[in-house]
Amino acid sequence: MTSTRSQALFERAAAVIPGGVNSPVRAFHSVGGTPRFMVRGEGPHLWDADGNRYVDLVSSWGPMILGHAHPRVVEAVRNAAGHGLSFGTPTEGEIELAEEIIDRVAPVHQVRLVNSGTEATMSAIRLARGFTGRRKIVKFAGCYHGHVDALLAQAGSGVATLGLPTSPGVTGAQAADTLVLPYNDLDAVKAAFAENPDEIACVITEAAAGNMGAVAPRHNAELRDLCHANGALLIMDEVMTGFRVSRSGWFGLENVAGDLYTFGKVMSGGLPAAAFGGRTDVMARLAPAGPVYQAGTLSGNPVAVAAGLATLRAATDEVYLALDANATRLGALFTAALTEAGVPHRVQYAGNLVSVFFTEDEVVDYAGAQAAQTWRFPPFFHALLERGVYPPPSAFEAWFVNAAMTEEDFAVIADALPHAARAAAEAAQ
Ligand SMILES: *Cc1c(COP(=O)(O)O)cnc(C)c1O
Repeated sequence: MTSTRSQALFERAAAVIPGGVNSPVRAFHSVGGTPRFMVRGEGPHLWDADGNRYVDLVSSWGPMILGHAHPRVVEAVRNAAGHGLSFGTPTEGEIELAEEIIDRVAPVHQVRLVNSGTEATMSAIRLARGFTGRRKIVKFAGCYHGHVDALLAQAGSGVATLGLPTSPGVTGAQAADTLVLPYNDLDAVKAAFAENPDEIACVITEAAAGNMGAVAPRHNAELRDLCHANGALLIMDEVMTGFRVSRSGWFGLENVAGDLYTFGKVMSGGLPAAAFGGRTDVMARLAPAGPVYQAGTLSGNPVAVAAGLATLRAATDEVYLALDANATRLGALFTAALTEAGVPHRVQYAGNLVSVFFTEDEVVDYAGAQAAQTWRFPPFFHALLERGVYPPPSAFEAWFVNAAMTEEDFAVIADALPHAARAAAEAAQ
């Protein structure tokens, strides 16, 4: 498989774009080599600039649950674009998308549309602080909530991949009000509330963690009860899980209601759109209804709204059955190949998010994810890539299946995995 055109494009990109990419997770920083420049996606496949085809197990980091260039989504985008790209006024599509989200996620009674998951979490935190009149927030190590200053401490995703404790440029003042606790550690949350009486505005958590690899939550219900007993809000970050792990996201699987929710990825249909929402009494504090300011020139953009709405409307029960089945099938293929090659491993699920950790111990938090033999990942990754499978280029990410995958795609994966497993077995620390 050649990658000369991707290499040439990467050199050009690196001259004009820091690191050659517009989001660090796209770089092959931790796996080595050159990122593939994609030119086309259709169904479960991506094609790169050298004409290589890949079975895509990243799905644009989550959004493309229907596969790429789904005809109904493309048609909706074409239609919307033909009517004008942006008006800076309200449009009916925004109501429809809000209604669709509210219909799917029962604890959400009102939503505000924004342009990225980062904006959604940033705004939800501001709203929680404005509503409670408190300063401090709790987040969990290994959870990623976008690149919001106050939320970058011990974050997952690209921050974990690059091994950063936090980011230069985030001031002490911005981080001082953020308490970082281990994921799935209820005692730590109890202690934080006890040590900071009437000071904690909210706890923000990934409803199920996907940004340190897939780590299912153990105590969401108790977390909610602790928040409420202490006058704090629970923010369920469902940017990754929302509308992917079920039609109602993680809430649909667990039924634990947060006070505020953040969404993005799937509900964007692949264009820049995201949302936050929740209880009406909290959302009513938002400008112009209330005093907590939040705004966006392109928020609720008609083309992005059309893509999101078409995606959600096409995401039927059959789509969710296919996502679940495909994730289970992928996980079983990991297990078979790694067992055969004698590689210590743990395949974990959070709904239909799936991850492979190179460790024998169950991973329940960020320390566990970091303790795995991540040095086995780069050769595992490249063996798959070379054989036409596109995995997430980091040991700290979930793998994202889509509903368009076919028998033929699983055959490609099944053929590639034994090579990858052997490469992981032979990896040198
Ligand atoms: C991706 C992600 C975000 C950030 O969304 P962006 O659109 O990349 O800003 C926030 N929270 C979670 C859980 C995510 O997975």
